[in-house]
Amino acid sequence: MHLETLAVHAGRPTEASNAVTPDIVLSTTFERNTNGEVPSGYKYGRYDNPNRRALETRLAALEGGAAAVAFSAGVAAAAGVLSTLQPGQRVLAALDIFYGTRHLMTGEFGRWGLGVDFADFTDLDAVRRAMRPETALLFVETPSNPLIQITDIAGLAQIAHAGGARLAVDNTFATPILQNPLALDADYAVHSSSKFFGGHTDIVGGCVIAARDDADTTRIREHQTTAGAVPSPFDCWLLSRSLATLPLRVRAQTATAQCIAEFLAAHRAIRKVNYPGLPDDPGHALAARQMHDGFGAMLSFHVAGGRAPALAFVSRLQLFTRATSLGGVESLIEHRASSEGPDSKTPQDLIRASIGIEHADDLIADLEQALT
Ligand SMILES: *Cc1c(COP(=O)(O)O)cnc(C)c1O
Repeated sequence: MHLETLAVHAGRPTEASNAVTPDIVLSTTFERNTNGEVPSGYKYGRYDNPNRRALETRLAALEGGAAAVAFSAGVAAAAGVLSTLQPGQRVLAALDIFYGTRHLMTGEFGRWGLGVDFADFTDLDAVRRAMRPETALLFVETPSNPLIQITDIAGLAQIAHAGGARLAVDNTFATPILQNPLALDADYAVHSSSKFFGGHTDIVGGCVIAARDDADTTRIREHQTTAGAVPSPFDCWLLSRSLATLPLRVRAQTATAQCIAEFLAAHRAIRKVNYPGLPDDPGHALAARQMHDGFGAMLSFHVAGGRAPALAFVSRLQLFTRATSLGGVESLIEHRASSEGPDSKTPQDLIRASIGIEHADDLIADLEQALT
């Protein structure tokens, strides 16, 4: 079936009540029969829940994976993948990666001895050189945050597998509507469901979708239930509801982002636009090969003149909301270096935008008045 159909029907349970919209099961525990067995398969809310199981079925179907594991945040999903590593093994991560994921690897897992190496993943030779015998996991984001760089998923998978390592792709920016990492030979697709999956800026969540339901996937599931970073039944229900419209939202947002990128690229107050949908973008050819149906709803751009004009431009916007995060129905914009704080390596003239489902003409009019 097509993604539009799976987004509505995958994991849709048949309720005892014949309700068309699934019930929310809040119960934390489930009654055993007189033999001590659990006839429903559910024991306790941390282990499993009907709404979570329905969500995981839908997520696995959308990414074309063998299994999905839902978490209470995107960073918890990344922690689930890192939990597959053994002491002494190392992770090799892209330089341009979400700063929370970087902190998780070097700060939290680093304290327990996880070795972390970084490389420029847009250069496959640099990735090959950075591989070590202990490298067991490669972790990449494409398109990346905040420079919207494109990396070659199939090429990375080949390097990882040749070295006995696995490849995890954070597919938050593209979503399975535009890019399918597992079909390009990645082992895991990781998401912050707080972004396009939720789509309405009202859920924090995450998930891992695995290509195979093997021992490492069992480990990720054990991490989910043992460490307990599980999403609530209501969040699972709400997220399943949001996923039904994911194909419609992402296609509309992507089409508008393309128009906005073209408008900004032609404006003399803008020094440079980072968007793979522009023909002269360094990632364009690769993105055209490995993505489909457009280039995503995230873009970033450099305002001519540096930090002060960049901040002034953002302060004049009326329709775009100044806030971090992305993927919602409303367009958001931020001066990324301010959001990341004093340690940020992000250029001071860089603005990141997440394009929502408003009409392109209204968004462009707002950008125009703020740039003039
Ligand atoms: C937001 C984000 C994360 C972290 O997700 P949370 O849900 O905030 O924990 C990871 N990767 C990317 C690309 C993100 O945008």
